[in-house]
Amino acid sequence: MTRVLIVGGGIAGTGAALALDKAGCDVAVYEAHPDSAEDIGAFLTLASNGMRALAELDASAAVTSIGFPLTSMRVLDDTGAEVAQVPLGEAGTPHLRYRCVRRGDLNSALQTEVTRRGIGIRHSMRLVSVDDGPDGVTAHFADGTTATADLLIGADGLSSTVRRLTAPDVRPVYAGQFVFYGYTREAPDTATAGTITMVRGSSAAFGYAVSPEGEAHWFARVSDEPLTAADIEQGTPARLREMLLPRLRKDTTPAADLVAATTDDLMVTNATELPTGTPWRSGRTLLIGDAAHAASPATGQGASMALEDAVVLAKSLRDAPDTDAALTLYETLRRPRVEQNITVSGKYLPRHPHPVGARPPGLRPEPARR
Ligand SMILES: Cc1cc2nc3c(=O)[nH]c(=O)nc-3n(C[C@H](O)[C@H](O)[C@H](O)COP(=O)(O)OP(=O)(O)OC[C@H]3O[C@@H](n4cnc5c(N)ncnc54)[C@H](O)[C@@H]3O)c2cc1C
Repeated sequence: MTRVLIVGGGIAGTGAALALDKAGCDVAVYEAHPDSAEDIGAFLTLASNGMRALAELDASAAVTSIGFPLTSMRVLDDTGAEVAQVPLGEAGTPHLRYRCVRRGDLNSALQTEVTRRGIGIRHSMRLVSVDDGPDGVTAHFADGTTATADLLIGADGLSSTVRRLTAPDVRPVYAGQFVFYGYTREAPDTATAGTITMVRGSSAAFGYAVSPEGEAHWFARVSDEPLTAADIEQGTPARLREMLLPRLRKDTTPAADLVAATTDDLMVTNATELPTGTPWRSGRTLLIGDAAHAASPATGQGASMALEDAVVLAKSLRDAPDTDAALTLYETLRRPRVEQNITVSGKYLPRHPHPVGARPPGLRPEPARR
């Protein structure tokens, strides 16, 4: 039985744990954070391809119990006029519908499912170094302990330690936009349950969806120079509203009112991406998820791609004659698809000083399936 050590208990790491366990591997997950609630603030949209990957892991129920479904997308121009309304993904199949979830809730639900299946997940285990030897790969953790396996999966996200150790020259780069998130109970009357509304604003790409409980989840992507660390750390809700509102008030859309009504639940982050063509493999180590192929958020595909990685990796290990052949097969299958997502998402992120309104907002249609 192949022993697999997964570094990172986020979406890619928990997805891989469920998939590799199902494929008959001996799996253990090591997560740096003391609990599952890191980054509880931001929300994301799982697309139908991500929901399909969850179904292949028999984990649909774990995720359909959180968040809320989205079955259509409407697009408004900068006057607030509706210019399009289209169905989203596999809207007719309940467990495959797009789903809006808080990222922390998704992590928590997937970690609970991992534990429910008897797969070991250890918290407060921060990887610091890796030794790759002829008989196995050994992970060293900050608390001085070690673990050894046949394969180490680096699922430790955008700022991956595994990637820094195996491909030290690869660095995430600023993707040309910073992104605000917020939540408010002051949802506009026009909001329709199950619909995500995208606003082609003149100075920001804005989107919002309203939960069945009446809470609007909104984001705004602004094309400009990156925010400084101080901008982000000192970004009180009032300061963030001041930064964003003048850009939204130029237009007559619901965006400015939603932001003005958002009192506390407001945050901002610089969007980053990894260059294409970076190495994923080194000996007995493989990078997956954002550690391998983080994309800017315009296509809304990062979490769905991470879940697809998990399914394809498990099938590759199940079907190939040995681990080396499996990793080659995995990379052959995954690289074109995830790199297309990086490229497409980058194209939909207009770079400063081009006006955001000149390009279509995300969500983009899902990438074509293999
Ligand atoms: C602004 C923004 C908007 C987004 N919107 C969407 C969207 O709408 N739809 C979508 O699908 N995706 C979206 N994404 C992308 C999505 O959040 C990521 O693609 C996804 O979270 C990647 O999952 P991951 O498991 O690879 O990484 P992460 O979720 O970052 O998980 C990595 C895990 O590794 C752990 N870790 C880190 N270092 C170590 C270490 N040294 N040792 C042990 N553990 C470690 C971390 O604590 C974390 O739990 C968005 C991203 C951003 C930034």
